[in-house]
Amino acid sequence: MNYTQDLKTEEHNQRLKGKLKKYFSFARLPKVLFEIVRYWVAKKILGWKNRPAKILKYPHPKLKQVSKPIDFNKTSEKELLKIFKKMFFSLQAQTYGDRLGIAAPQIGINKRMIIVQGVSMINPEWTLTKAPLEDRYEGCYSLNKEDIYKTQRAKYGWASWQDLKGKWLRYQIKGVQALVFQHELGHLQGQCCNELGELVAPPIRIKS
Ligand SMILES: [Zn+2]
Repeated sequence: MNYTQDLKTEEHNQRLKGKLKKYFSFARLPKVLFEIVRYWVAKKILGWKNRPAKILKYPHPKLKQVSKPIDFNKTSEKELLKIFKKMFFSLQAQTYGDRLGIAAPQIGINKRMIIVQGVSMINPEWTLTKAPLEDRYEGCYSLNKEDIYKTQRAKYGWASWQDLKGKWLRYQIKGVQALVFQHELGHLQGQCCNELGELVAPPIRIKS
């Protein structure tokens, strides 16, 4: 039996007990409560900052305006990020549809900023190619929930835009991506699919 070792252990236990007592003492209660309140307030502020904006519906005048290009000399990256965040949260807050894209005017900001399938684009431009037009069906969060419009859109084309740093990107896009890009670009021109196409759904509403 090692006596010294035992003494050390006893000492250690006593110290630990003292520490625990200090940790769980009522004297700490105000501090703990303060931490809880601080956490709650921080969460509320963050939630408030990231709250989704209401998506405007036609015929709101902001949706009819031609949006202004972003001047990178006058706009900070932080400012752009703030708008994109708001657009993103507003799109994510939608409870139906595929949440494919959103344009800044839809949340009342007439700036040339769009999100297409998760990609943030600034000053987007569409260059037509010889791609044939094809029938597409599209809906919009700024129109009635159940309304689908039949439109004619280019099958593919060149899309160019600037990223948050102002760098130009250029890609040939097709399919759903090309459709969403053309749709969101329309919003920046003050246009929506209800002006470009014809209403096809809901064609019949049967009520028993
Ligand atoms: Zn739309």
